[in-house]
Amino acid sequence: MNRAGRHFLQIPGPTNVPDRILRAIDRATIDHRSAEFAELGHACLTGIQSIFQAKSPVIIFPASGTGAWEAAIVNTLNPGDKVLTFETGHFAMLWAKMGRSLGLCVDMVPGDWRHGVDAAQLAEKLAADSEHEIKAVMAVHNETSTAITSNIPTVRAALDAAKHPALLMVDAVSSLGAIDYRHDEWGVDVTIAGAQKGLMLPPGLGFNAISDKALCASIRSRFPRSYFRWIEMLENNEKGFFPYTPATNLLYGLRESIAMLQEESLPAVFARHARLAEATRRAVRGWGLEMVPLVPAEFSNAVTAVFVPDGFDEAALRTLILDRFNMSLGAGLGKLAGKAFRIGHLGSFNELMLMGTLSGVEMGLTLAGIPHQKGGVDAAIEYLTETAA
Ligand code: PLP
Repeated sequence: MNRAGRHFLQIPGPTNVPDRILRAIDRATIDHRSAEFAELGHACLTGIQSIFQAKSPVIIFPASGTGAWEAAIVNTLNPGDKVLTFETGHFAMLWAKMGRSLGLCVDMVPGDWRHGVDAAQLAEKLAADSEHEIKAVMAVHNETSTAITSNIPTVRAALDAAKHPALLMVDAVSSLGAIDYRHDEWGVDVTIAGAQKGLMLPPGLGFNAISDKALCASIRSRFPRSYFRWIEMLENNEKGFFPYTPATNLLYGLRESIAMLQEESLPAVFARHARLAEATRRAVRGWGLEMVPLVPAEFSNAVTAVFVPDGFDEAALRTLILDRFNMSLGAGLGKLAGKAFRIGHLGSFNELMLMGTLSGVEMGLTLAGIPHQKGGVDAAIEYLTETAA
């Protein structure tokens, strides 16, 4: 294998960490009880609110997205509570499984992994719940396994129309910093996110953006919890500190990531992702391959999931591309294992990185003997050229 040049990390997270963030992290670790640290803490805690488009507090855990999922549950609910989830893909299933193992009664609306959350089905469930037994609605905004983005405002609208008091919890792990996400405006009670996707950081930070309603619920919640308890965190955060040793160097990186996203501006970040995603989809159509999502309005701007034709194995294709071209693509997850591979196009990413990625896929398809049409890469070049500012 030729290892010269850079590895292409085109999985949908962890994403490429830009040099600017690597440089920011590459500093001596400081005393996390010092005044210097408090400045860093304040900068991260206030800066990250702008990325969630939230005025309410955002809690930062030394954890992965999974830890932030658990924090959302154990701070707001009670063992035995009923929650409503949607089978949109692998991550929705994992979050539901976690809920069950924590003792929640999980009602999952079945899905085919090719559609996002159906607000009409949600409305039916809410209408049938006259006793308000459902305590939370849990939805994944960008389902990374299927490359489907659900419409969260329609979820909020269904809750409002039913005048249902359930908390709305949304996983924005692979949308934050890549696809427009508005914690306050969309009336989300807990938003869950992680460091290693749109924020362009190495893995290791988990986030909970919380509403006043979620904070009140956390005071009443009887779930046993300690490390993930919001209240201690919020008390310490007020002074720029954390109740335990924070991931100091990742916070240096987070401060830089926030600065980079603010310098580019969120609308420009989202437009960049949308354009690169559209170029990717044109390439896939050019190859004559089928995408996993069926509804264009739900196509993800962070990741594209592509079926290989029957009789071929996406894992073998990815192995070939890794061995031959030193590029990692996203694996098929859950019931898509072996069937669909994923092209990550989020985070610190530009046109030429995308063209390298798509060229690697096209060459890989040919070398793997996967039937496809020529011209996918050309279709992406044409679109990027036409839309070049
Ligand atoms: N939710 C979504 C949508 C994800 O894509 C992931 C990971 O890829 C997770 C949750 C779990 O996050 P982590 O792997 O950081 O624990």
